[in-house]
Amino acid sequence: MAMTEVTTEVAHGTAASFDLAAGDSIRIETPDGAQGGDFSFPGFDQALTRNKLGWKRFGQPWLVYAAEPGDSLFDVDGNPVFELTAREGEGIADIMYPGCWDEVYADRRPGCQDLISAALGLERRDLTGMLSFFVGYSADDIAYRGLAGVDLKPGDNLEFRVIRATNCAVSTCPDLDIPGWRKGHLLVTIRDAGGEIPPGAGPEAGAGN
Ligand SMILES: [Zn+2]
Repeated sequence: MAMTEVTTEVAHGTAASFDLAAGDSIRIETPDGAQGGDFSFPGFDQALTRNKLGWKRFGQPWLVYAAEPGDSLFDVDGNPVFELTAREGEGIADIMYPGCWDEVYADRRPGCQDLISAALGLERRDLTGMLSFFVGYSADDIAYRGLAGVDLKPGDNLEFRVIRATNCAVSTCPDLDIPGWRKGHLLVTIRDAGGEIPPGAGPEAGAGN
């Protein structure tokens, strides 16, 4: 079966959802280096993911701040659902933050939590994890200092391979005060594997990650 590619533009302050099969891929790009947003899927457990990736990287019960290519994103049952396969640019794939929400804005505009939960058809309380992309950070003994400024370039991107069939959503963050960001849109490209699951993309893939 032929591979098909569909690109969706996600405007500033909005989110879009995507239905994905195992073997598909999803690529998120900032075409003009303007800004990032959040990514999530039903049951995403970012705390468990931090810990599993810490074990994988250090053999210790340590937590990591971000996913890197080769890392899986896990659900609340401990199953790998996505694998980050590529990431280009200075911005990291942060798995610390919960995403923004309406209360953080004086005008109560919908935040990434509101946008993504609506796109997934979930109550906001049922959104269990977020991955914030194209953000900078620093860290010390006191705090993880995210949203610390980042120099994005046109074409910066990250790409995931789908390990288990799921839906997911991508938001273009409505925040206009993040250092290094300006108002922009994102491009999300779904590559449909046509039902053919490439080697290594089956349900068992990434189980040790
Ligand atoms: Zn946001």
